[in-house]
Amino acid sequence: MSHTPLDLSHIAVRDKAEILAQALPYIRKFHGKTMVIKYGGNAMTDPALQAAFAEDVVLLKLVGINPIVVHGGGPQIDEALARIGKKGTFIQGMRVTDAETMGVVEWVLAGEVQQDIVGLINHAGGKAVGLTGRDGGLVRARKMKLLDKDDPTKEYDVGQVGEIDSIDPAVVKALQDDAFIPVISPIGFGEHNESYNINADLVASKLAEVLKAEKLLMLTNISGVLDKQGQLLTDLTSRRIDELVADGTISGGMLPKLAGAIDAAKCGVNAVHIIDGRVPHVLLLEILTDQAFGTMIRAR
Ligand code: ADP
Ligand code: MG
Repeated sequence: MSHTPLDLSHIAVRDKAEILAQALPYIRKFHGKTMVIKYGGNAMTDPALQAAFAEDVVLLKLVGINPIVVHGGGPQIDEALARIGKKGTFIQGMRVTDAETMGVVEWVLAGEVQQDIVGLINHAGGKAVGLTGRDGGLVRARKMKLLDKDDPTKEYDVGQVGEIDSIDPAVVKALQDDAFIPVISPIGFGEHNESYNINADLVASKLAEVLKAEKLLMLTNISGVLDKQGQLLTDLTSRRIDELVADGTISGGMLPKLAGAIDAAKCGVNAVHIIDGRVPHVLLLEILTDQAFGTMIRAR
């Protein structure tokens, strides 16, 4: 392993056994269930957090839970754009994607980021398989119509940013039934075989809906959704989210994240959580303990 595990020698052996035993009810409850995990934020760039994430995903798989990873890659795309002298621009949390940017998005996400994650998971003892939305016809998309959030008569052209038309989960199901862990890059294809850059939160949410996932967990670079004073909001309903968007408390990357989260909650995903990817092993904490983390999103 590339990181040193925490020194736990101060914890009595009996206590360690007790801690492990307390995961049993959660393992029993979630055995055979699908969990869609949006992997983003710092958990994706810090080596120790990366290794902890990969271990969690493998552990979940080995206790009979089916993790499906959808990854982002904002910082990595920005870095690659900077190398060719381009600066990323965003409108309402969406990356304006011209043809050249689309090329960069495809090679960074599918070529670099996805394969790094596959490597990490496999190194931790799992069998990860990387996919884009093209593989197996997974994600059909069309050009996104982005309307101004305050004035819906105003429309923005964000280039090759896609919105999801439909998801065909057959390839994901085939892999997960076969002990593999799918790792999905958020790239879709259109009716003329053109590529679309899709916000990873939206792909994760739609996939969770279509797969009737038990949980959708979105790892991010902040402790959850914060109010105007910067305090963590542990619980949010659709109506409260509308208010927070309207008064400007929620902006940027949190907009598509919450739009996806609400959709998933309304469409039958049992639990939707936005959680702090800076906390080591946050996935195990969220899934296998009674500890609540970050912000839970409820349909009503
Ligand atoms: P990710 O990689 O998790 O998708 P994003 O940058 O797309 O990260 O989205 C998370 C960011 O959203 C936060 O780092 C923060 O800057 C921004 N944000 C905007 N409004 C809020 C809010 N009310 N609470 C928390 N974060 C917010
Ligand atoms: Mg984002």
